[in-house]
Amino acid sequence: MQHFIKYFFFLLTLLPSALISAERPNILFIFSDDHTTQAISSYAGDNKLMETPHIDSIAQEGAIFTKNFCVNAICAPSRAVVLTGKHSHKNGQFTNGNTFDGSQMTFPKLFKEHGYSTGIFGKWHLKSSPTGFDEWMVYPGQGSYYNPDYRTPNGMKRLEGYSIELTTDLSIDFMKKAQKENKSFMLMCQYKAPHGHWNPGPNYLDLFKDKTFKEPSTLFDNFEGRNSNAPKHKMGLHHMHESHLKIPVEKSKEWGRMTAEQKAAFKKGYEAQNKAYFAKKLSPEDDIRWRYQRYIKDYLRCVKSVDDNIGRLKTFLKENGLADNTIIVYSSDQGFFLGEHGWYDKRWMYDISLRMPLVMQWPAKFEGNQTITQITQNTDFAPTLLDAAGITVPAEMDGTSMLPLLTGQKPEWRDTAYYAYYESPGPHNVPFHEGVRTDKYKLIHYYESGEWELFDLTKDPGEMKSQYNNPEYKSVLKDLKKRLVEQREQYKAPEHEWVLNKFKRKKK
Ligand code: CA
Repeated sequence: MQHFIKYFFFLLTLLPSALISAERPNILFIFSDDHTTQAISSYAGDNKLMETPHIDSIAQEGAIFTKNFCVNAICAPSRAVVLTGKHSHKNGQFTNGNTFDGSQMTFPKLFKEHGYSTGIFGKWHLKSSPTGFDEWMVYPGQGSYYNPDYRTPNGMKRLEGYSIELTTDLSIDFMKKAQKENKSFMLMCQYKAPHGHWNPGPNYLDLFKDKTFKEPSTLFDNFEGRNSNAPKHKMGLHHMHESHLKIPVEKSKEWGRMTAEQKAAFKKGYEAQNKAYFAKKLSPEDDIRWRYQRYIKDYLRCVKSVDDNIGRLKTFLKENGLADNTIIVYSSDQGFFLGEHGWYDKRWMYDISLRMPLVMQWPAKFEGNQTITQITQNTDFAPTLLDAAGITVPAEMDGTSMLPLLTGQKPEWRDTAYYAYYESPGPHNVPFHEGVRTDKYKLIHYYESGEWELFDLTKDPGEMKSQYNNPEYKSVLKDLKKRLVEQREQYKAPEHEWVLNKFKRKKK
């Protein structure tokens, strides 16, 4: 009897938290780096480069967002927007060079305050230490694919293995612990892949080996009909280094940190093709073609490891009875050029880098197979997750909860996205610019050179010809300029003069 009473009281102590975790959803926020929608089969449709079954399954069990745009297409700023729900000029992370002010309000802090177990593993890229997390292990800077170092509250720790798999292991351990403690969790699992220098894991080196990928039609773009800065870029396949391309493998960025076994596998993966490459002198044009094949294969190999590891996370949730009431979000900090315009990298307001992938599932609340076509932005992520957990969204956030879009309601919704890029010239010589995107059109202002671009996205989805000076677009232009003024007012965007003074690198 005494045992029974003891057990009864023990059960009582468990009850409130058990009840809470039954009601509140867990959050599994999976964020990769530079993963563009062209490399996700559910986005690319008939033009798909590869299959991403696990990412696709999130869309099938929930929703895919077709017009989800970042507010500033570069790593650290996009991450700061996600954490704060605010535009770059409000959270202070304008460029990769800034240090994130961790004392400001972030959504993980609010989850923690409301009793959630919070954790972040993998890429952080914000220089200051993570705040608002019970547990964290994040890469210093960009992090490494092989045998990565992790910053922890107790100093640096190096783990042996492939970073995508290791970050998944850490994430699964965190979820296991939260479940054991009967706590709701908010976990950010943030992969390094498929960011440069695209080092595939040992299990992926042979993938696509004998395949020849179709080149983008704009691989040899001459930039006619667009702004005068575009041809001055430094983000062409011809700008890639030997370390990006693994020619020879010993020049690979992470060669020095690999184990002997990893080196052997890496060498075997590239040896034959490198030998053939060095055996004959390619014309400049054929060299670009060769570079494209090397680049796209390595990029997609890295994507494949992300997709496989999302599969592992999903399996964990299913096997532990957590799938139904866990919101899974998959996204990446911006899009990325995969040889379009002859480019790699991001930064431009063109759709390829502007669009972020976004798929989301919550089986307990969302219908499956939804396609959300409204204009959403990364400012909306934090409000959505807070709203789902029943936590009040702070008024200072710029974004809006997307929950009504996902639960069959028809909310009033924005019809314009605002964008601003501040890291100029940066490593790739991209100009300062800002602009607006609507359902059908885009207006970009390069305020340093005083140029503008207007694209008709229905007729010209590849954004190859600016219609800015075309009189047929006079009323469209007037409307877009008005929207730009309104957006700047709404978000209290800084004056161009202020931006140029603050960020323009002084000419020597
Ligand atoms: Ca990125």
